[in-house]
Amino acid sequence: MDTSAFRAWVHEAARLIADNAENLTRLDAAIGDGDHGVNLRRGFQAADEMLDKAEAETPGAVLQTVGRALISKTGGASGPLYGTGFRQAGKALADVTEVDVAKLGSALEAAFNGIQQLGAAHEGDKTMLDALGPAVTAYQVAAEGGADIAGATRAAAEAAERGLAETVPMLARKGRASYLGERTIGHEDPGAASTVLLMRALATVTA
Ligand code: ADP
Ligand code: MG
Ligand code: MG
Repeated sequence: MDTSAFRAWVHEAARLIADNAENLTRLDAAIGDGDHGVNLRRGFQAADEMLDKAEAETPGAVLQTVGRALISKTGGASGPLYGTGFRQAGKALADVTEVDVAKLGSALEAAFNGIQQLGAAHEGDKTMLDALGPAVTAYQVAAEGGADIAGATRAAAEAAERGLAETVPMLARKGRASYLGERTIGHEDPGAASTVLLMRALATVTA
């Protein structure tokens, strides 16, 4: 993946999030405060616009620009969390200009670790990490098995989707949803649902 492929990822993510904003908001209305779709649509639109103006000349610079945009424009818990994820992924790529399958795997892992450290959630707490964790693992298993970026990102997107489904019976232990306790059981986590969209966008642009 070169710089323009990363720009294409962000553009496709912004499009998918805008198209699915109502669903994300509906999920967040059930177990949170109903703003996840609005938050992320604003954040990714800002990121996409900032990229149009920014001279981000490496994949790492693109991801760091997106991270900064998400942190300053998204709001909610998800803004700083996703923003940190993108910034850490960007840092992991440093000045590499052509990202291979292994490098993209380490960037995804850096995103997971950044979000985990900032939010102190663990898999099973019913958060975005319940989609991102399985996605990163599936990506790495596929890559170690010889998959190219297209195959590994497809595996990641599919695993994120399964991870999202697994959030339904979970009890939320982090963020606003945790205030609702048992009432969060039986619903998909909105952040896990948006992570599925990000992984799907990545698989689409690398297919
Ligand atoms: P807010 O809850 O502040 O309104 P959003 O609605 O935009 O923010 O985002 C909610 C999502 O953020 C949740 O569905 C969950 O996936 C994620 N989230 C909340 N707290 C954490 C955390 N500590 N670690 C990881 N993800 C979290
Ligand atoms: Mg919310
Ligand atoms: Mg909110």
